Amino acid sequence: MKKTLVVITGASSGIGAAMAKRFSEEGHPLLLVARRLNNIQALNLPNTLCREVDVTDRVAFDSAIKDAQAQYGPVDCLINNAGVMLLGQIESQDPAEWRKMFDVNVLALMNGMQAVLEDMKARHSGTIINISSIAGKKSFANHAAYCGTKFAVSAITENVREEVADSGVRIMAICPGAVETELLGHTTSKEIIDGYEAWKTSMGGVLVPDDIARTAVFMYTQPQGVNIRDVAITATRQQ
Ligand code: NDP
Repeated sequence: MKKTLVVITGASSGIGAAMAKRFSEEGHPLLLVARRLNNIQALNLPNTLCREVDVTDRVAFDSAIKDAQAQYGPVDCLINNAGVMLLGQIESQDPAEWRKMFDVNVLALMNGMQAVLEDMKARHSGTIINISSIAGKKSFANHAAYCGTKFAVSAITENVREEVADSGVRIMAICPGAVETELLGHTTSKEIIDGYEAWKTSMGGVLVPDDIARTAVFMYTQPQGVNIRDVAITATRQQ
């Protein structure tokens, strides 16, 4: 099987970095984007273009994709993974945090889909994997805006899946439960962070990023005629 270009956003830590390693092990050339260029370069993966891109910057995102295509051929898989989780209570949270989450988690993901879909449809091939969340299926305390973004990701994924199904392009969502990464570290309330950590401990630990990476590889490596539309994956003891 020809090893085609895979684009992974937010590959500088956590789930994105784990997916970069797994897809590289599968032999794919990669485009990795994130703001922390040093982190993606430090993965030191072969056949990999690393670009410092803020995914909310459509021009920079598009240009990185075009450069990768010139080097490695068409994008066969885009993984929209970049995301931020800023937990807070609706009555006190800074609206700038809501806007940031919607910009990165939702609008930038749509930027990515728009950047690759026309070509995928023309080629009748390709896969987009959007990283949603269990918080895209149910609510959690202090998650109003974050849940809002992830419900949006799940809705957009299903909507676009229906729109492009006839073309043969696959649109998929992965909805992870809690995974040990840097994600929680950007929340400003110590009380909320402590509560979240206690919840993780109470379930005897959470997933590791490679659990999600293996899932993404499994979904992608099914035949093009098979679309695993939506996978929820959590620690067994997560409620
Ligand atoms: P991390 O914080 O470790 O990773 C987030 C990644 O997103 C980083 O690589 C970061 O890169 C990137 N990112 C954030 N903002 C931008 C931006 N503006 N432009 C480009 N890249 C950006 O967390 P996770 O690995 O956990 O998160 C990955 C995805 O998984 C997110 O969408 C998250 O919502 C989702 N998820 C995570 C869960 C968890 O429990 N950890 C559970 C369910 C879903 P940089 O800062 O270098 O730009």
